[in-house]
Amino acid sequence: MTNTNIDLSIILPVYNEENNIDLLYSQIITSIGQLKECNYEIIFVNDGSQDNSLEKIINLSKTDSSLKYIDFSRNFGHQIAIFAGIENSKGDYVVIMDSDLQDPPEEIINLYNKAKQGFDVVYAKRKLRKGESLFKKLTAKIYYRLLRRITKCNIPVDAGDFRIISKKVVDILKQMPEQEKYLRGLIAWVGFKQTFIEYERQQRAVGKTNYSISKMTRFALDGITSFSDFPLRFATYLGFFVSIVSFILMLWALYQRFIIKEYVQGWTSIILSVLFMGGIMLITIGIIGEYISRMGSNIRKRPLYIINQTNLDDEEDKETRD
Ligand code: UDP
Ligand code: MG
Repeated sequence: MTNTNIDLSIILPVYNEENNIDLLYSQIITSIGQLKECNYEIIFVNDGSQDNSLEKIINLSKTDSSLKYIDFSRNFGHQIAIFAGIENSKGDYVVIMDSDLQDPPEEIINLYNKAKQGFDVVYAKRKLRKGESLFKKLTAKIYYRLLRRITKCNIPVDAGDFRIISKKVVDILKQMPEQEKYLRGLIAWVGFKQTFIEYERQQRAVGKTNYSISKMTRFALDGITSFSDFPLRFATYLGFFVSIVSFILMLWALYQRFIIKEYVQGWTSIILSVLFMGGIMLITIGIIGEYISRMGSNIRKRPLYIINQTNLDDEEDKETRD
């Protein structure tokens, strides 16, 4: 058997998307069909879904040999699912997109054509976000602007993971050992020729978001701790600032006590300073803790994900048998 070269891999992380999979698949096929002579593979990564997503995917894979799937032993998270897809992709270009149809499959053509003009990364920038809460839009807006200010690398504002990357970038990502995969940051960090196209982010087709507030917070903190030391420095600045203020207060207290000799019990000032110091100390210890816990997981070096079943090796098995 000859080893056919794959032009395009499409990676789809799936967590409880049983009602989106068929529609998503057919839209992707229609979209890729418009690309002439494009050898593709579609990689579904089932991130421990509790519904029938996996059955749906396996059924589709029986009719289409370009459809690959990786089934995780449990839920490992969106970024890890994408990373597993990237690690196992064979395409010259790799598209990353959500499987809830928020990232419109017809944009794949635009991403691919743009990349073909000689770009290693083309990310899709959201012109409009349909059907998302004001809270999400607002926090995302503030967060990405903050992240941009406090990190050295240029993480694009208003862009999710929907993008195309070249094999060159894929190979570098595979070498990155960190456990917290903040992919949009890592891809920005890699460099090369990057550009963007604009698109309208759609409403989720069926179901509801799988990103709870706590998952979102964790993800947001991953972005900051992997790319910025600013919070640690901020803790130091805060320490200095509070020390200076305390020193001035101390002088004032001594002045009152010995020069004016007019002093009261001072309960208010004591309780205020205790509360203030307590707050500052907890914040700074918390910041340090965030970094240490991430160092811990990087030292443990557990595997990023565990595969329960996959059809990735099917072809190779066939090849060795032939
Ligand atoms: N997802 C995943 N693992 C998770 C959570 C989400 O693989 O633990 C997938 C999900 O199926 C979808 C994509 O990641 O394809 C984006 O998730 P979601 O739509 O819930 O996030 P949102 O669009 O609301 O940010
Ligand atoms: Mg979504």
